Amino acid sequence: MRSLPLPSLSARTVYRTSISRAIPRHKQRLDALEQAVLNAADVFEAAASVAALHTLKDLAKKPVDEADRTQLTKTYTSRLVPESAPGNALYNVLKKVRHKICPLCGHRDVSTLDHQLPKMKYPLLAVVPINLVPACGICNGLKGEHVPKAASEQTLHPYYDDLADQQWLFARLKWTENRPPEITYFIRPPKGADRVLAARVIRHFQMFCLAELYGPNAVREMSNIRGILRGMNAAGRHKYLLLAEGSVLVDKDAGGQNHWKRSLFQTLAGDSGYLEGGFDQF
Ligand SMILES: [Zn+2]
Repeated sequence: MRSLPLPSLSARTVYRTSISRAIPRHKQRLDALEQAVLNAADVFEAAASVAALHTLKDLAKKPVDEADRTQLTKTYTSRLVPESAPGNALYNVLKKVRHKICPLCGHRDVSTLDHQLPKMKYPLLAVVPINLVPACGICNGLKGEHVPKAASEQTLHPYYDDLADQQWLFARLKWTENRPPEITYFIRPPKGADRVLAARVIRHFQMFCLAELYGPNAVREMSNIRGILRGMNAAGRHKYLLLAEGSVLVDKDAGGQNHWKRSLFQTLAGDSGYLEGGFDQF
């Protein structure tokens, strides 16, 4: 749930570099497809910038020729990704992110590129930079071959969607008698938020199983700070947690509004049961 700056590499550069060492009969085919790839990149950009990737059904049908489709897909798997491939240096540039954090989950390290629209279904977009999002392996696997069929089914695109100005992610601490307390994460769209965007954020949260990722992280964090909180009274704990929340908030790169730690510290600071002794149960 983090935004990223648009890639600086053009579709033409990445495509031409990747196909540069293809054997002659494949090279000829791929050269002939270059304009179609550049056109597809333009169509993708126009749709992505208005969150309308669900409208690109026609692009999935192109090119019709199966051998063309195969060679375009291989341009990613054989000509861009492998270490010995002509496009590998560009692959590494596209994968590079400050802090190495996957923008889709905001937590694990980047290890691959995720196709916003899958290459098997959209071979013309196989090596188009704005369709390639740095991601961790788990997010990449969870998204799989997902293609949005409606506006609300689009997961967030880190180059075009930015939630940093408002808080969407919240945590809730639930106390039940005779049971250990539970921390759960959920999305609460800000007041006045666009309805489609709200549906997309919820879709993103569910697709990447973020509640299942953040919940156990939060429990570990609470266990880590238990010792520190023991040495304070309730007012001191409240102050400590507000400072911790502030430190996540001030650095957008380190976390920001929608980092799981921000929501955690915010919730704990506002929970009197936790501050007055409940913290010792984690
Ligand atoms: Zn991830």
